[in-house]
Amino acid sequence: MKVAKFGGSSVANAMQIRKVAAIIQEDANRRIIVVSAPGKRDKEDIKVTDLLITLGEARLSGSEAEEELQAVVNRYRAIALELELDQAIMATIEADLRERITYDTNNHARYMDVIKASGEDNNAKLISCYLQRLGMDAHYLSPLEAGLLVSDEPGNAQVLPEAYEKLALLRETKQVLIFPGFFGYSKEGILCTFPRGGSDITGSIVAAAVKADLYENFTDVDSVYAANPTVVDQPVQIKRMTYREMRELSYAGFSVFHDEALIPAFKKGIPVCVKNTNNPSSSGTMIIAEREYFLNPVIGIAADKGFAAIYVRKYLMNREVGFGRKLLQILEDEGISYEHIPSGIDDTSIILREEQLSDDVEKRIVKRITEELNVDDVHIEHNFAMVMIVGEGMHNTIGLAARATAALAQANVNIEMLNQGSSEVSLGLAVHAEDADAAIKALYEEFFGGIKEAVID
Ligand code: ASP
Repeated sequence: MKVAKFGGSSVANAMQIRKVAAIIQEDANRRIIVVSAPGKRDKEDIKVTDLLITLGEARLSGSEAEEELQAVVNRYRAIALELELDQAIMATIEADLRERITYDTNNHARYMDVIKASGEDNNAKLISCYLQRLGMDAHYLSPLEAGLLVSDEPGNAQVLPEAYEKLALLRETKQVLIFPGFFGYSKEGILCTFPRGGSDITGSIVAAAVKADLYENFTDVDSVYAANPTVVDQPVQIKRMTYREMRELSYAGFSVFHDEALIPAFKKGIPVCVKNTNNPSSSGTMIIAEREYFLNPVIGIAADKGFAAIYVRKYLMNREVGFGRKLLQILEDEGISYEHIPSGIDDTSIILREEQLSDDVEKRIVKRITEELNVDDVHIEHNFAMVMIVGEGMHNTIGLAARATAALAQANVNIEMLNQGSSEVSLGLAVHAEDADAAIKALYEEFFGGIKEAVID
């Protein structure tokens, strides 16, 4: 059996939902269907999830928010009308939303989760209604009823191990189950959403729980590309890659797949396939446990902006027992997580997501590091991008780092930091954010410039 997940652009309007129905009908093994909320119909459009966030925030600031509510209802209405669905489904969706907005607003994060989750929940109801109208034995399934248990962390939930047992029962389904993505319930029955883009995570969890033969992730591109197509002209398509490669690339900005989504599928060894709803006959990209990397040691180049570095220098840092722990404790006290720590003998840089910093936080961190660790220098630099060269062959192929640094030198890109310590599948380079595109282009040319075919396997 297959679990198929359809992302926001695949369910953005009636035309797209018709394509989804055809894809489900075409293969009887596609028995569990995970859906996102309606996404953008074109570049300028607004995702339903974002409309819901506007609605929730308006209510929290005390507004009636009737206009914001109508904006959401109208998106579903347009779809329902075009699919010629019964009036009842629209009444159900509107009543559901009107009920949700009256929930307790004391805890803002919980309130927002209830509102946000309606995007996928109502879309799943609508889609199952359409499939039934087409004569299919389709059934909406609530994550509460199905037992998708998650940690009680609004907007940032994680699946609990107990969820898998209950969800495993879905394997026996004879019906086509339409499962809303993006949220689950805590043991106390409180709704919590995954991070943004989290329907991918739901799909992966369900696929792992039912031990699906395949987890298909339908989106709007034919495959994963070796670099961002908006930066590199017609990059090669990747036909086969490993979980680790996909995770590294998603982490560094490949938006085709949520970076946390692979872990459940990976742990149970479920193969994942990224496919195109608009071109389902294209084979897509297979994500698997292992691949032969001799031919293509590097599989992709990615870059993500929005990093800062805390630079700390102290003579004989390498000999001071406990220095690293004390330094990281200061970050922990501020609730800050870090991404990389390239280090020397007398200095270290902690690279972290810039959004976690504010003027106040920075001042406190610098003051504490200066006073408590007695350092020679500490300062925070902003506006970095992390460029990742990803491939299973990264560690075992001689000369890759040399080729990468030479290519960047030729493109006049200064490498601020370099990290090839722990990860076996990536080489991370910090550059100034304004150099990120030039770095991607130069590295793409170096590692893929000679490849004539449109795909690498
Ligand atoms: N609708 C949610 C979002 O836009 C989740 C998803 O589509 O995966 O983030």
